[in-house]
Amino acid sequence: MSSDTPISINIRVSSLAAECPRKRSIGILRDMLEAEGYAFNEERRNIGASVGTGFHAGAHNILSDKLSGRKQDIKYSVEVGIETFKAAIKEGVDYDGKTKNRNDGEQQIKTLTEVFSKQVAPNIEPVMMEKPLERRIAHSEANVVFTLIGHPDCIEIKKITDYKSGRIISCYPAQLGGYDILAEKEYGVVYEKNIIVWLPRVPVKKPYPGPTIVEWPVDVCVNEALAAIKAIKYQVGEFLKTKSPLCFPSNPGSWLCSEKYCEGYGTDYCRISQVDNGKRK
Ligand code: SF4
Repeated sequence: MSSDTPISINIRVSSLAAECPRKRSIGILRDMLEAEGYAFNEERRNIGASVGTGFHAGAHNILSDKLSGRKQDIKYSVEVGIETFKAAIKEGVDYDGKTKNRNDGEQQIKTLTEVFSKQVAPNIEPVMMEKPLERRIAHSEANVVFTLIGHPDCIEIKKITDYKSGRIISCYPAQLGGYDILAEKEYGVVYEKNIIVWLPRVPVKKPYPGPTIVEWPVDVCVNEALAAIKAIKYQVGEFLKTKSPLCFPSNPGSWLCSEKYCEGYGTDYCRISQVDNGKRK
């Protein structure tokens, strides 16, 4: 590659609201960082993400039935979700207190998919689901082409919805704003509503609490997404000049700051994580 050839960097919409910019930089620049000599821990599959993958597959099947006018087959959608889950954990997974084993995971996907079918899907008129979208967003003076990429769970006529199935509901405006930016380019539509539908992952023995629906103002979401993109552009530009991980602020207070969730934990890329309470580990 000649020095004039722009460096191409993808930014996933789901990474815009990163708890730790340094952790995010590993996701965005991993090949480049490894070429610089940094080594990272193996990525570990966590059970929350795996149950979420299964549930999303089941929900997608329910909405596909609706979009194509087919009679809803909830049993089959649950099967699709469970098979997707089994494939996701094939290489191993870290279970936790809410999902203690594979049976728990399958039961949770069944519950989530059925609740989605009965309490969420009737209020959705899908136009497009999980279509990969992209938008070239910047070409900075650092000779980098950034491409924003993502696939919103569901787009309706004037509404974008994302489904979450984590233990707790988090804050997603930057991610939603990223979807607004992508979908506006793809469909030429300015969206009016951004919705999070949260179906929590709860232990199988507890009664299911049902979905929570949260609406976020579109202008707030888009501005948060633009602010995150601006920060990433600046940090990457600085990194290309200095090659220092310190271009990306760390957040050791994040709940993701552990060997289980961060590939940079304990490595030379993130030396603050090699120190515990002032003492080097
Ligand atoms: S180890 Fe902690 S501070 Fe370092 S990159 Fe990971 S999450 Fe951020």
